[in-house]
Amino acid sequence: MTTEIKLLLEHNRVWAARMERERPGFFTGLMAQQKPRYMWIGCSDSRVPANEITGLDPGEVFVHRNIANVVVHSDLNALSTIQFAVEHLQVEHIMVVGHYGCAGVRAALQGTRIGLADNWLRHIRDLKLRHRKSIDHLPPEQQEDVLCEINVIEQTGNVALSTVMQDAWARGQKVTVHGWVYGLRDGLLKDLQVSMDHPDAVLNAFRTAIKRYPREIDKNADRAIDTTFDSLDDD
Ligand code: ZN
Repeated sequence: MTTEIKLLLEHNRVWAARMERERPGFFTGLMAQQKPRYMWIGCSDSRVPANEITGLDPGEVFVHRNIANVVVHSDLNALSTIQFAVEHLQVEHIMVVGHYGCAGVRAALQGTRIGLADNWLRHIRDLKLRHRKSIDHLPPEQQEDVLCEINVIEQTGNVALSTVMQDAWARGQKVTVHGWVYGLRDGLLKDLQVSMDHPDAVLNAFRTAIKRYPREIDKNADRAIDTTFDSLDDD
């Protein structure tokens, strides 16, 4: 084993000993069950670790991460994780968390080919096309930040519209979906104010959040594409 990997295992032994010394019974207490109140759906980016950012201990947040925090209606991995969190762990809050400077969002915005993930990021390229009137007129650095935020708002909506969440709300379960974005520059989380806690709240929360981004009409845009995609997000 390389020295580098041995060092990780040594760090782990030091950490486990310190935790047990400072909070005796910490690990045996967690062995019985996990009862997190929160679920985090975030980007796989190594700079955005759920527990550290929110000051939560092991056992306090159930985590699902993928490239660019995308929730696709046919992704059985994400849906299974959300269902387990909602139905078995009874989490009270689900946070969809994007981050500024997301390489996945940047690749989608610029059309950069990076490999197999191009197909995954196609979902974000579709969002860029759908919301182009809120994005294309901005300077490049702002385009990326806005697409990061719009991606979070859209994915928050996707969680809320999933059968898992719709069934949970129909049962009367109290669980709220939130959309946040994390700043790599300052380490701060920003609430995008798109929280949804009831089926009837979904459309209004989504529209209110999206309307915060000023739109500029592109008179040169292809009219056929305009008609098709405008119908998706217009009143
Ligand atoms: Zn990312």
